[in-house]
Amino acid sequence: PTRPLIAGNWKMNGTDAALDELARLKTLLGEAPGLAAEVLVCPPSTLIHRAAQIAEGSDFRVGGQDCHWLASGAHTGDISAAMLLDAGASHVILGHSERRADHGETDAIVREKTKAALAGGLVPIVCVGETEAERVEGRANRVIAEQLAGSLPDESGAGPMVIAYEPVWAIGTGRTATLADIAEMHAHMRALLVERFGEAGRAARLLYGGSVKPSNAAEILAVPDVDGALVGGASLMADDFFSIVVAA
Ligand code: 13P
Repeated sequence: PTRPLIAGNWKMNGTDAALDELARLKTLLGEAPGLAAEVLVCPPSTLIHRAAQIAEGSDFRVGGQDCHWLASGAHTGDISAAMLLDAGASHVILGHSERRADHGETDAIVREKTKAALAGGLVPIVCVGETEAERVEGRANRVIAEQLAGSLPDESGAGPMVIAYEPVWAIGTGRTATLADIAEMHAHMRALLVERFGEAGRAARLLYGGSVKPSNAAEILAVPDVDGALVGGASLMADDFFSIVVAA
């Protein structure tokens, strides 16, 4: 069985003071050797380098929240996979619904970014998720199938694959999908990935995201085909995040 991955997405939160939470996380992890889960923290880009320094000699790694599809060039405000790697990141979140909504990222753009991350030596965490309207209309499975087909390049089959299912209506709302809905969607995604990528699809880690917190983490992580969690709000405080890590 694959080792679960508990990933924290700090989103646009955190200045220098937030590094104290990482130091605290390092202490908590250090006091609990042999935990089942692999741990990742994705702070804003400005903190990646310092976060990676804190992560040295610890059991967590550091990731980015987005990267450009090109390696360098005239793209003001953007950051490349090579830059994230250079700053100490091992992973990068791509196609988060907030990027899709705020920056018009399409499946085709996410696919190019995923290629760039793989070529740059990062593990991409590709996010998919339906809106509330799409679920109510009974289209959730089809939407996710389309997002997976469009957002994953063929190259995804060659490396470690991490997919995050984050129903848009469950993000930051305190509402999680039901365990039955999570089980159904994760089984659906697994079948699609195995169909397209074979063994690599079977080995892919499927994370659930959307209002995961200490009180619901254990039951969500026990759902078949849930291989970890992508945690937003509850990843900002080391103690809460650590409770989720322990639940895996
Ligand atoms: P919340 O855990 O705050 O709902 O955010 C989920 C998310 O979007 C993680 O990427």
